[in-house]
Amino acid sequence: MTGAPVADGSPESELDRVIAARLTGRPLVLSFDVDGTLAPIVAHPALARVPDATRRIIAALVTRPGVVVILISGRAADDARRVVGVEHVWSVGNHGAEMIDPNGGATVDAAVSRYAEAMARTAQTLEPLVAAIRGALLENKTWTLSVHYRAADERAVPRLRAMVEDVAVQHGLIVTEGKKVLEIRPPVAVNKGTAISRLVGELGGFSHTASVLFAGDDITDEDAFRFLREHHPAAVTIYIGDRVDTAAEFTFRDTDRLRSLLERVARATVEQ
Ligand SMILES: [Mg+2]
Repeated sequence: MTGAPVADGSPESELDRVIAARLTGRPLVLSFDVDGTLAPIVAHPALARVPDATRRIIAALVTRPGVVVILISGRAADDARRVVGVEHVWSVGNHGAEMIDPNGGATVDAAVSRYAEAMARTAQTLEPLVAAIRGALLENKTWTLSVHYRAADERAVPRLRAMVEDVAVQHGLIVTEGKKVLEIRPPVAVNKGTAISRLVGELGGFSHTASVLFAGDDITDEDAFRFLREHHPAAVTIYIGDRVDTAAEFTFRDTDRLRSLLERVARATVEQ
């Protein structure tokens, strides 16, 4: 990789060496949340982008024999793919409710798809209500509605939250909290943990010769951290951020730190 730092004996470099040594199995399943993990957090989700350097590393990794890349996002699956901009990846969207395979084939969880009408009606009701609160933004991803309030006045948030919960309950939906975002979705037990469990299993990632990595920054990523730590402790789990209450094994301060690990992993897959 161009611009990759050489091993310099620093604690971070040493940790990267240790982690990379746990990622030598095949298949090697590399799974990532997108926003705040591959793409730095920005004020508006539409402005999120994955740095070119990160994109190049992922594009290189996905072409290596036995390496599989999965994106697992709260975004719609096609949107997550667009933001990352790398071909031949799996994209799990809406926290596990839908998926696009590397050939572009799309599937929706059967239990989730039964709520199509309830989701559409809720979106219609919330649109004007959210628009009336300055800085709040409704993002309609069909199988999840995200109400972003990062740019809203903090004093307006309790009212926004109460309103969102009220409308969601009326339509038989549930509300979960993310980082400055309220997520409205069907009351179906799909989350990043169930998605990882199913897809990584289908791809052979839990066989004894395989290696798995999952990195994420949000509260919804904790489902995947918990699942992996409990059932597949050899998997590498990395939380990006500064919360202390994460179930992940490792904590990285930011997206650049993750990229430097991926550079190391990419070099190792060439050397093998
Ligand atoms: Mg995230």
